[in-house]
Amino acid sequence: MTSLKGEELKGYLGIDVGSVTTKVVLIDYDGSVLWNSYRRTMGQPIRALQSAFSSLKKDLGGVDIRGVGATGSGRKLADHIAGADRVKNEITAHAVSAIHLLPNVRTIVEIGGQDSKLILIRNGVVTDFSMNTVCAAGTGSFLEHQAARLGISIGELGSYALRSASPARIAGRCTVFAESDMIHKQQMGHNLEDIVAGLCDALARNYLNNLARGKDLSSPIIFQGGVAANPGIKAAFEREINKEFIIPGHYPIMGAIGAALLVRDTKDTRFKGLSVSEQRLYTSSFYCSDCPNTCGVIEINDSEKVIARWGDSCGKWANMEE
Ligand code: SF4
Repeated sequence: MTSLKGEELKGYLGIDVGSVTTKVVLIDYDGSVLWNSYRRTMGQPIRALQSAFSSLKKDLGGVDIRGVGATGSGRKLADHIAGADRVKNEITAHAVSAIHLLPNVRTIVEIGGQDSKLILIRNGVVTDFSMNTVCAAGTGSFLEHQAARLGISIGELGSYALRSASPARIAGRCTVFAESDMIHKQQMGHNLEDIVAGLCDALARNYLNNLARGKDLSSPIIFQGGVAANPGIKAAFEREINKEFIIPGHYPIMGAIGAALLVRDTKDTRFKGLSVSEQRLYTSSFYCSDCPNTCGVIEINDSEKVIARWGDSCGKWANMEE
């Protein structure tokens, strides 16, 4: 986390609420990152967001927020809590930040805690994309789980992989096969470095088989998302397709940066202020049985009052006056 104190800053806030991590950034008009927060969502996205806002207030004191963009799987929640000027899907947010950083980027490989994405860009426009939200074998959570099982920290995984002379061949098609295959390789006597390198290769192959089959991954290729922290995965991808993977300095927060870049033209922000970090907010849900759709409706409550609802296809709950 960056910490700045002093005169009041002006900036644009980008919020990326994911199922594993919540990222908040403050950028200036040129897109430079002034402050950022990256924290675990821990199944409590409201608390993660409120805690990021408290840190922002503590680190920067007064800050003049001119616009707010929200993305990530919890973008609607972020919008209702913070008051976003634009709410965009992750594909757009990641593409915007990558293009801002490298205008001639042609391929974005993004791997986060719970999902992965492939975005193809031609002449600054998204021409194709694919997402994997179902196979855990190609995500950061799987890597973390395996690192813990092997008794090493997630931060050490890359250096182990890079020391391998002969990566073990690990089946990476699904988590169950990968884990049992790793246990089998350990029992056969493969050393830890070769098993970790094999795990990185398996994740890269899993990604390429699930998301990139039949697609043209042309350079320049940007690799972003939390998993880009692992140099073993970068090396595995580069071995598999024999192309360089560029990792941006702000690789884990590129979605939030993209969301912030999208609101730089905001005239009159809807932002509710950093004081939302002090509100007693919680969510609840119910199924509407007024028609066969049986929509799952989510509510955000401030103390005893419902302040927002969504999830209803017809809008009857979202538009209801309290
Ligand atoms: S919210 Fe609307 S569409 Fe959904 S079940 Fe109720 S009445 Fe039907």
